[in-house]
Amino acid sequence: MAASSASRPRAVVSGGAGFIGSHLCAALLERDVSVLALDNFITGSADNLEPLQGNPEFEFRQADVNHGVFIGGDVRYVLHFASPASPPQYDANPIHTLKVGTIGTMNMLGLARAKNATFLLASTSEVYGDPLVHPQPESYWGNVNPIGPRGCYDEAKRCAEAYAMAYRRMHQVDTRIIRIFNTHGPRMQVQDGRAVPNFMAQAIRGEPLTVYGDGSQTRSLCYVSDLVRGVLAALERGDEQPVNLGNPEEVSMLELAETIIRLAGSQSKIDHRDLPVDDPKQRRPDITRARNLLGWQPEVGLEDGLRRTLEYFRSVL
Ligand code: UDP
Repeated sequence: MAASSASRPRAVVSGGAGFIGSHLCAALLERDVSVLALDNFITGSADNLEPLQGNPEFEFRQADVNHGVFIGGDVRYVLHFASPASPPQYDANPIHTLKVGTIGTMNMLGLARAKNATFLLASTSEVYGDPLVHPQPESYWGNVNPIGPRGCYDEAKRCAEAYAMAYRRMHQVDTRIIRIFNTHGPRMQVQDGRAVPNFMAQAIRGEPLTVYGDGSQTRSLCYVSDLVRGVLAALERGDEQPVNLGNPEEVSMLELAETIIRLAGSQSKIDHRDLPVDDPKQRRPDITRARNLLGWQPEVGLEDGLRRTLEYFRSVL
């Protein structure tokens, strides 16, 4: 039976108008949690929240969490998803990216502390940098260049994790840290700049697919519905230690480009471009901890997920 409004738990989601944030808001509402989404629209979009706007349990506030978060009433969950997340986006907003990982995280933890709420940090596989251990377990401390172009994102997220642990130790805030690996799905921006949107838009338009370097670098792609299930499992059943959330099915960027050309039925060719500085050579999550602790693993296979995302890009291009 659906909970009445008065007894419903309430979640505050920063970055609620973003790609993952908006799917998360929808999933929380489906589980009878009221949602207040916050976003400053640096990379989020009001269009992503369109399907939720008529829901009386959903509220949106345009806000920058770096400037403080003041919210009346009870809050059961604070989920911090605000941040530019694609390399071109954080490269274009390095100071904002640093602030939202540090000051923004501190403000959201302060909110969780004041409300006695559970806090969940959307951290990232980028905390492992260009990893020297493969696949990456949570116990690996990473190989990050603090002064390279990815430093603003990687170090901000590493600092965010330190903040979460500090608030737990000092103020007993109930915290969770999830490390999100590459994720794709509907509502990714066409201009996002990551491999999946770039390749899909290029394949659909019949343009060459821009593979950086020789394309031998790998990633492991998770479909967004699997990821969101993992976030909710971490919220409900997680502990204070970081947990990897991602799909362990690893693919090289050249294979990914070729697969997308085939799935799109496209005639596009491949155009090799320079490899960006500090681009991680390989990435695959060890999800043993997520399986054991959360009983979670991805269900959507790589090609199945890519087909669904492709359908979305066809609908918006
Ligand atoms: N990449 C590519 N072509 C593009 C965009 C990205 O070859 O048009 C490569 C990029 O160099 C990296 C991989 O794809 O090796 C994944 O990049 P993405 O930006 O999707 O995410 P990252 O995991 O690097 O944050």
